[in-house]
Amino acid sequence: MSTIEKHAFQAEIAQLLDLVIHSLYTDKEIFVRELISNAADATEKLKFLQTSGAEIFEPDAALTISVATDDQAKTITFTDTGLGMTHGELIDNLGTIAHSGSKAFLEQLKASKDDAQLIGQFGVGFYAAFMVAEKVTVFSRSYLPGETGWVWTSDGRTGYEIEPAGELSRGTKIVLHLREAEFATASRIEQIIKHYSNFVQFPIELNGTAVNTVQALWTKNKSEITDEEYADFYKYVGHDSDAPQYRLHFSADAPLAIRALLFVPAKSYEQLTMQRSESEVNLYCKKVLISPKAKGLFPEWLRFLKGVVDSEDLPLNISRETMQDSALLRKINEVLTKRVLKWLDEEAKTDAEKYDRFFAEHGHCIKEGVANDWSHREALAKLLRAESSHTEKGKTTSLPDYVSRMPEAQKEIYYLLAPNREAAEASPYFEVFREKKFEVLFLYAPQDEFVMENLREFDKKRLVAAEKADLKLDEEKPGALSDDEARLLANFVKETLGDRVGEVRVSKRLTGSPAVVVDSDAQLTSSMRRVMKMMNREGGPSLDAKPDLEINPRHTMLAQLEKIRHTDAALAAQVSEQVFDNALVAAGLLDDPRTMLARMTSLLEKLLAK
Ligand code: ADP
Ligand code: MG
Repeated sequence: MSTIEKHAFQAEIAQLLDLVIHSLYTDKEIFVRELISNAADATEKLKFLQTSGAEIFEPDAALTISVATDDQAKTITFTDTGLGMTHGELIDNLGTIAHSGSKAFLEQLKASKDDAQLIGQFGVGFYAAFMVAEKVTVFSRSYLPGETGWVWTSDGRTGYEIEPAGELSRGTKIVLHLREAEFATASRIEQIIKHYSNFVQFPIELNGTAVNTVQALWTKNKSEITDEEYADFYKYVGHDSDAPQYRLHFSADAPLAIRALLFVPAKSYEQLTMQRSESEVNLYCKKVLISPKAKGLFPEWLRFLKGVVDSEDLPLNISRETMQDSALLRKINEVLTKRVLKWLDEEAKTDAEKYDRFFAEHGHCIKEGVANDWSHREALAKLLRAESSHTEKGKTTSLPDYVSRMPEAQKEIYYLLAPNREAAEASPYFEVFREKKFEVLFLYAPQDEFVMENLREFDKKRLVAAEKADLKLDEEKPGALSDDEARLLANFVKETLGDRVGEVRVSKRLTGSPAVVVDSDAQLTSSMRRVMKMMNREGGPSLDAKPDLEINPRHTMLAQLEKIRHTDAALAAQVSEQVFDNALVAAGLLDDPRTMLARMTSLLEKLLAK
């Protein structure tokens, strides 16, 4: 007498199988992940039953998950000692889509006020087996003492059969008869387990050897984790032998259940290689990998982060492609970004010098965020750091600190682009600021100006390039030249220079320098002009526009020039040209300094002849 029962799959299951096999999954290997997480679920449930004092069949069986491959027979077998399934559960859980085992279990857990760690609503998980198997056999023995074993068999097409299996050990054994030998190869399976299931909380053995070794630290409480464990974990996820500079371990329940363990590497790989790097944060759902180096988890400008994000709210069986543009991912991105910005701000306040080291490595990413991401601009701007005229060399200030020091008379935030501090302090553009004691940010990176241009203002105060600042020296110091003389000298210089210069004006901002060039285009600064020249960009403002020249009426050299032009016009012309070239050199705008060498030599000759 045959005891085999034949069952047809529910219509939805048949559809589901078709969907799973043909469209939803692109990576067949994830069937390993699915079956292992089911085994881990079942084991976790059993563990809970143990603690709740339920009567359990074979109570002392070790809680391990074993995987065995047989490349001769082309099979792979997953065995667990979890809670197993009864005859009815096999039908409900593996034969109907409306199975609610996990759901019901979760409710039980909630009722018992214990925390549910591993209970999922993994819709199609088990059926992933049919992506690679032509036949699946499930042996199961429930933990309930009065039960017996059952075998469930299916080819994933016509339906399934169930028959008694007599006495079995507690738990479930799933045998996949594979279409291809690939997944019956131990090395291949080891690689897959390590990739997706390395953090599963029960030992996973492959052909008798333990495979998963690293703990899912992010799910533990901070107080239970040693610094050494954190360090080891970082080495594992960060592929970095140096210790990380910062670490953030946090969990949130609302609006999303998220646990994250994030690190900032001590060194910027990007600066080292001059190549844009990819974010190395892996996305997990309950310790099971969903996507490595998950795209879209963070904004681009946080690509220096490494670590793990785990969200229980993620559907486990979703393809990577679908994941990337899901609204859920955007929500996670939002929550994480806000948290990371807050975290960096706190770190900066806790230890400014450490933060400076961070900024020296990864500041270019923060700047990129300021320039491109208007939705976080205000928070990002607070994270910027720069040297300024009020800091010591090598020390920085933030924008909020700058603003807090602004005197009443100062309405704008000023910055000066220079190759280094010495050049900034010696810059003619800096003179008026030194005199007025207005603080100026010293910016040394070529992209800084672009960042400032995009930021435009901070705390409702305009950001202004020093050379564009409309500032005058406070009290008109008695000039070496009278107003009239200065004006006439300016005219003379303009006549001498002709087309090379735009306007020549009497400066109200210079103290120590004889002259300075100022871009005649209100939008342009000399450094931008320099960059544009370098890139030879077309379509931008015309590069033929001449810079204006401002001369300093308080400078004795100009007073002498004013005198000499009445007695030695040729010498005065040469000196005027040299003053202009010197100003161009100071602004970094002189194309080829060799052109002025002949003039210099002639001037030296005249000097020595005296
Ligand atoms: P999910 O895991 O999301 O519930 P699956 O399709 O992966 O969905 O599994 C369906 C159900 O089958 C599970 O909820 C569980 O009740 C049952 N099941 C699957 N594998 C096992 C197993 N190894 N041990 C016990 N029950 C299992
Ligand atoms: Mg599952």
